[in-house]
Amino acid sequence: MKSELSAPYFHNEEAAFAYVEARMWPDGKPICPKCGVVGQAGRLRGKSSRPGLWKCYACRKEFTVRIGTVFESSHAPMHVWLQAFHLMCSSKKGISTRQLQRTFGGSMKTAWFLGHRIREAMKEPHSTFGGPLGGAFRVVESDETYIGRKAESRAYEPPAPKQSVMALVERGWGAVRSFHVPNVTAANLQPIIAKHVHSDSRYMTDTSTVSGMVGLPFRDRHQTINHSAKEYVRGDVYTNTIEGYFSILKRGIYGIYQHVSEAHLQRYLTEFDFRYSNRIKVGVDDVQRTALAVQGAWGRRLTYETTRAQRREAAVPF
Ligand SMILES: [Zn+2]
Repeated sequence: MKSELSAPYFHNEEAAFAYVEARMWPDGKPICPKCGVVGQAGRLRGKSSRPGLWKCYACRKEFTVRIGTVFESSHAPMHVWLQAFHLMCSSKKGISTRQLQRTFGGSMKTAWFLGHRIREAMKEPHSTFGGPLGGAFRVVESDETYIGRKAESRAYEPPAPKQSVMALVERGWGAVRSFHVPNVTAANLQPIIAKHVHSDSRYMTDTSTVSGMVGLPFRDRHQTINHSAKEYVRGDVYTNTIEGYFSILKRGIYGIYQHVSEAHLQRYLTEFDFRYSNRIKVGVDDVQRTALAVQGAWGRRLTYETTRAQRREAAVPF
């Protein structure tokens, strides 16, 4: 047996830096984040130098691969970061802040930031696919769903309005993209569909959904299935792929995350999109998925500040 968790970069700080450097600097040449010079730095190996430290020969400044990435200004050791990346990338329904905190120690706030920085790294275009979904003879399914708290968990307050999510999936080998929209209206969905679905695609929806009413650019390539008339499959016309995705999303959001605030819903959607778009079925295993996410850490310094509301959310018992 060979456990994925035995890899040296999960335990050894130097191996962890080497792993990240190999993904940030693909041709093996260190890039100085201070002056931008490529391949003109030396690794500092002295006893007093911390792992991962380089010195640029051009500007004489010291740097690590953390600078300008989601790893910047974090005190967590790099091998712990990689463990967290692996957990998040290999758990089909995600991993809660509470679980991250139990596993890695530290505060809930630290765990919360760790999770959100990893979600930041999972953003496209660093996942496998870029450009619009679909194309000639390819099928894109579209549907909407609603995410919200169960009424019984809010006994003392009126139930919060549910959040609207629309998603597009390219059937077969393609990717999924989900969007948190203020309301499900043709005006809100139309620009998303125009931007993210190739106009030569076959576009499939349920007749009764709003996505089903805004398929204009596809003309006769827009095919609908009538769920309200109990029609679910007609030849290769169906929306089962997108419904399957929504069921993974909902099991994760309700089962693992339990409460996702409106302000952060899009980040969670990004996380579920990333795992689905880079799934086993399209030939991406857990190890490769983790590597893709780490690659996405480049240029993704997290810029937003912790607000009181975010700290409150981090303190919610999960
Ligand atoms: Zn430099």
